[in-house]
Amino acid sequence: MTGALKGAVAPRTLILLLLLCAVPGLGADPPGPAGRLNLLLVTIDTLRADRVGALGSKRGLTPEMDRLAARSAVFTRAFAHTPMTLPSHTNILLGSTPSFHGVHDNADFMVRGGFLTLGEHLQARGYATGAFVGGFPLDSYFGLDQGFTVYDDAFRKPEKGVGDGNEDRGERPAGEVWAAAQKWLRTQKAPWFLWVHFYDPHDPYDPPEPYRTRFARDPYDGEVAYADAVLGNVLDALGELGLDETTVVVCTGDHGESLGEHGEDTHGFLAYNATLWVPLVVRAPGFAPRVVGQNVSHIDIFPTVCDLLGVERPGGLQGTSLLPLMRGKRIPERPVYFEALNPYYTMGWAPLRGFIDGQRKFIDSPIPELYDLGRDFGEVRNLAGEADAAALRKRLEAIVRGQSSEESAKAERPADRAALEKLRSLGYVGGLSGAKKTIFTPEDSVASLLPYQNKAGKALELYRQGKTAEAIGALRGILSVRTNISAAYVDLATIYRRENRPDEAIAVLRAGAEAMPENYEIHFQVIVCFYESGRFDEALSAFETQSFPQAEFDPVIWNYVGQSQWKKGDVAAALASFGKSLAIDDRLALTYHNRGTVHFDVFRRTGRAGSYERALADFRKAVEIDPAYSPAFFSLGVAYFQAGSFAEAIGNLEKALSLDPGLDEAHFFLGSAELKRGDKPSAYRHLTLFKATPSYQGLSPAAKKRVDDAILECKPGR
Ligand SMILES: [Zn+2]
Repeated sequence: MTGALKGAVAPRTLILLLLLCAVPGLGADPPGPAGRLNLLLVTIDTLRADRVGALGSKRGLTPEMDRLAARSAVFTRAFAHTPMTLPSHTNILLGSTPSFHGVHDNADFMVRGGFLTLGEHLQARGYATGAFVGGFPLDSYFGLDQGFTVYDDAFRKPEKGVGDGNEDRGERPAGEVWAAAQKWLRTQKAPWFLWVHFYDPHDPYDPPEPYRTRFARDPYDGEVAYADAVLGNVLDALGELGLDETTVVVCTGDHGESLGEHGEDTHGFLAYNATLWVPLVVRAPGFAPRVVGQNVSHIDIFPTVCDLLGVERPGGLQGTSLLPLMRGKRIPERPVYFEALNPYYTMGWAPLRGFIDGQRKFIDSPIPELYDLGRDFGEVRNLAGEADAAALRKRLEAIVRGQSSEESAKAERPADRAALEKLRSLGYVGGLSGAKKTIFTPEDSVASLLPYQNKAGKALELYRQGKTAEAIGALRGILSVRTNISAAYVDLATIYRRENRPDEAIAVLRAGAEAMPENYEIHFQVIVCFYESGRFDEALSAFETQSFPQAEFDPVIWNYVGQSQWKKGDVAAALASFGKSLAIDDRLALTYHNRGTVHFDVFRRTGRAGSYERALADFRKAVEIDPAYSPAFFSLGVAYFQAGSFAEAIGNLEKALSLDPGLDEAHFFLGSAELKRGDKPSAYRHLTLFKATPSYQGLSPAAKKRVDDAILECKPGR
């Protein structure tokens, strides 16, 4: 164990402990005036190193990064340890690999409070700290906000449950990230640490104009060019504020993008250089520009900036300071560990790990691979057949062992409920429930299974083009030969739901849950599907049968559970589930609206004033969070109507109708409110509009008569 995290110490104490045992960086400059330097960290998501001019690209996409590079140390062989956003940023900000901190994947993991982040380290040394991130994988609830006084993740959160690929993706463009960051920066006194994260090159590729038009044939390049242009604005602002000589600038990518290479479209499944090779540029006052060809990696950033800023390095960092390289010296070669474990954690496919050592790159899986990066950086000629695979595996095991912590091993233990609560109090989430497979064959390897995964993606594309039967046939075809392609189950169920074939959707998802009991996405979809079909008992029993650690951090699943409980008449349980949803994410308009609806229902049945007040408060919160959420405006209008506040009722109902003209019942309440206010023409208009809707047709004869009487009452000329 090389790390400093030992046992279950309370996070705060642990951080203190780390600070107390901090050792001055060996070979670092003595802290002097350099101690007041600022730090700007720019991470550009999904940026392939070969798109950067300073790294040899002839595409002309990155004039701004190239301008920075011309005054910087440019590392031409920098590697990520993981091809995923959250793990990679965790590697950067903690200075350790997933073997140590346990964050192996995006959504199902969380950075625990016990680890020391670069933000915390600098904050404790008097730095003002601000982070401005562009994409959901870095949302504060995944834990990287530790140590940042301001952690701005103000993008719209994706809401799950629809699965048609059109959900909100939870991102914002670089320009918006920088606008917020710039506001912050202009009010800071030195020293400060600013981290900005641009998510743009991540798929889907949809750059803003003029890049969309200019790169119509290659929108990924367009996203890169756009992110680079905003980087230019960041650098200009530094110059304009006179901060060039007092700020260390580090710019890197979190991982690359395969763009079809090796059969991978995006990133996360494989670990070739298309996704592991990243740009790394470091500009520091007093350092001459230089090109560095030795292998370096993300975990080297933390110790390097400590040395550049003249602050001591904390214990437990796994990387090495790159200062000697920035001065033209060499450092001892170290193996760079890497992994791509998303398919392992989400689908039970064979794990994929490896290391780069000098020019050799070993990828361990049931089909081992070895490449000579000096001659074959594109990794097309697998030399594993000529090598001693057992010895390479032994070496890999030793590297993993050397970087592991007891804590990360604990993280993979299937958690019972009590343990889960405890882990949660430590800020941990992750791991699969149930036993994990330990023996893998070539059939389980990513190389064998990825083509089927890709086929599933293409089938959904067929469906979007209107080729429904073809899409269903393709997905069924995949599942007839491979049962561990979760996307095939989920996509097929999505199509059936869209086609109003809920029973078939449920059957597919149940088969999926049986074949892949560890898959949270399938579990989630089963519950949604049962709920949508009105099978509330089954939704609840599916939820209760299996406990997933992920559910503890998924506000949306608790919303569905609460809705199902309410429909079953269990108000207390429903309110508790909504409370849980909001405890996980207090910005979910959907949950506020649903909880308000339950309170309002209780009020209608019991006349309890407290329930009415709570309903009103929840509806108000829902519209405040999401001013485009028509059902909440409707409910708010109805609640005001109920209380006799007709002016407020009318305002909210009109707003609801303007957002969604299909809200038939809004016409009924509007008409009724206008009638109460004495505006008969308006009342007549809305009530007759209501009478023409299917909602009216669905009323009981007595209710219809009441509407008809009201229309008669306000009929013109009467
Ligand atoms: Zn990323």
